[in-house]
Amino acid sequence: MQIDFEIFSPVHQIHDKLFDEQGLKVFIKRDDMIHPIISGNKWRKLKYLLEDAQAVRKTHLVTFGGAYSNYLLATAAAAAKFGFKATGIVRGEEVNNDTLFLCRLHGMNLIFVDRESYRDKTALFDKYFADNASAYFINEGGASELGAKGCSELVSELTQNYDHVFCACGTGTTAAGIINGLQLHNLPTRFHGVPVLKNGEFLRTEISKCLASATDYDLHTEYHFGGYGKVTDELIRFIKDFTSSTGILIEPVYTGKMLFALYDMAAKNLFAPDSKILVIHTGGLWGLLGMKDKFRS
Ligand SMILES: *Cc1c(COP(=O)(O)O)cnc(C)c1O
Repeated sequence: MQIDFEIFSPVHQIHDKLFDEQGLKVFIKRDDMIHPIISGNKWRKLKYLLEDAQAVRKTHLVTFGGAYSNYLLATAAAAAKFGFKATGIVRGEEVNNDTLFLCRLHGMNLIFVDRESYRDKTALFDKYFADNASAYFINEGGASELGAKGCSELVSELTQNYDHVFCACGTGTTAAGIINGLQLHNLPTRFHGVPVLKNGEFLRTEISKCLASATDYDLHTEYHFGGYGKVTDELIRFIKDFTSSTGILIEPVYTGKMLFALYDMAAKNLFAPDSKILVIHTGGLWGLLGMKDKFRS
């Protein structure tokens, strides 16, 4: 079976008084519309990994994630779609939440391991799958050069030029792919990554592992809101305003923080007038269901 499907990721303009005042044109690439579950950058990251697995005749995907991992869920759905078995090795004690329910519904087998053991992914893979010739190791979050290769294709889909492109960063694989794509197409577009974890500077090392050549880009490390999965009332208010004024659903772990950074920088006058800015909607919307409590008040 060919590991591919047609990508649908239109670009929509975001209208906002702030952008009009500043003379900015802001657009959003709807990678969230690629697939309801294998959404956003996750399909881009998985495509060449699955192709590689198929090429080396591996039929069982083994990957890793936290209990709310969009990546685990995307892998479960992609495995089901393309006829692989899948195992997710989950950090922490056994829980049952919406994400893991959907993983199981797609046929993924889940193994829960304590946080200490979780650190060494290779050891875990060996422990459970050393004797299993069909098992294919995929790093947490799909972090890999093949993952970045898939993400670089996003740039080929662009039909106009932008001065800036913004993307949320977890592992930095998507960022590296987009930066590579911009280089490959000789585009002058400036890349801006917004790390969603604390101390995001570490991402420079991760991103450089997947970069085709050394390039300059920006990381805005002050928009983590306390760390991965952490939110503040200000962020939640921003998300409610954004979604209710644009009709575009976003979640607080990734895209919410990235868009907050963009709005904050626009309000601070950091872009030249007439700048054209593209933001990437990386999807992950099922994660919202696990965060309903944070939206009360
Ligand atoms: C996984 C994820 C990211 C992070 O992508 P990386 O390639 O790990 O940096 C960004 N946004 C959403 C919605 C995600 O689920």
